[in-house]
Amino acid sequence: MVYDSAERQSMREREHLALLGIASGDPAARFWISWLEDQGFCEYKLCLKCLGRFAPDSETTVAGIDRHAEIQAAHDAAAVPVGSVGDAVAQAVGHDRSSSLSEVYLQGTRLVGRVDEIHISRDVVHVIDNKPRPRRGDPFYSQQRQALGYAIAWSQMYPYYYFAGKIVAVVRDRDSMEWLGEYVLDGASVSMIDSKLDRIQAMLRDPRRAEETKFESKCRTCRYHDNQLCDRDKCR
Ligand code: SF4
Repeated sequence: MVYDSAERQSMREREHLALLGIASGDPAARFWISWLEDQGFCEYKLCLKCLGRFAPDSETTVAGIDRHAEIQAAHDAAAVPVGSVGDAVAQAVGHDRSSSLSEVYLQGTRLVGRVDEIHISRDVVHVIDNKPRPRRGDPFYSQQRQALGYAIAWSQMYPYYYFAGKIVAVVRDRDSMEWLGEYVLDGASVSMIDSKLDRIQAMLRDPRRAEETKFESKCRTCRYHDNQLCDRDKCR
């Protein structure tokens, strides 16, 4: 699916609505899973985004969106249709039939988002998030946390896999499609993500608590730098 700028703007508005719920303490409010990566990149950027300071997509973001659409089209052309996610789980658990789904919407108790791909088999589920490969090779911690966020939301929708099987969060290179990191979901990772969400919640209720990145290199690639909208930009 290729989103035009109006659709992307509408997604941002929904993010802001989700934030309003969080800020007012609505127990039904949920965090966008992508916020886990944003938080690791720069907490202040997450605040600007959630407080509705609009900045057009950067060139990097547009390139990412285009690549995302290519990967999805290739996946859907090659995949065997399986119906709904529930159908895929039933076939895997009941008949030992594996399948692969793209663009799966996930909603857990605190998290919501759309993951790039899920590979489902009877004993293991791989929840896959495509990312640009970091220069150092291994995924950033923030990328790991986003992938784990999808895995947690999955585990809450289909707890069978948490208790009887295995759920693995995967960060995949969006260009080479190589798996860069695999992280088995366990109690420690669930607690770690919970603490990150608590931190985001506290920060969004009081944006003065948000910390900006210490790295100029991050600011140079940030959409708020390109548009001179950040008062904490390290490259001003
Ligand atoms: S310009 Fe730098 S400090 Fe400002 S939001 Fe972007 S990354 Fe954070």
